[in-house]
Amino acid sequence: MLGQILLVILIILAWIGVRSLLQQRLDRAQQEGDTGASEDGHLEEMVRCAHCRVFLPRGQAYPGDGGYYCSAEHRRLGPGRSEQGRPPPR
Ligand SMILES: [Zn+2]
Repeated sequence: MLGQILLVILIILAWIGVRSLLQQRLDRAQQEGDTGASEDGHLEEMVRCAHCRVFLPRGQAYPGDGGYYCSAEHRRLGPGRSEQGRPPPR
């Protein structure tokens, strides 16, 4: 009888220990995930392709002469018709 009670207590203690360990691991993972998400989730600076004027995140832009470009092709072509050079809409 006493052995059974001790066994139950041991099982409960083991269960609590395993749960707290899992909880700690979950919390740590969530914290790491949160920091990672906040790093990924923060708004990246947008730049404009100097050739076709399209906006894109700076991380995906190709830096080149005259600014950023949306692709290696546009970087090769160089700055497109600039807004000063473009004739007014009417
Ligand atoms: Zn472009």
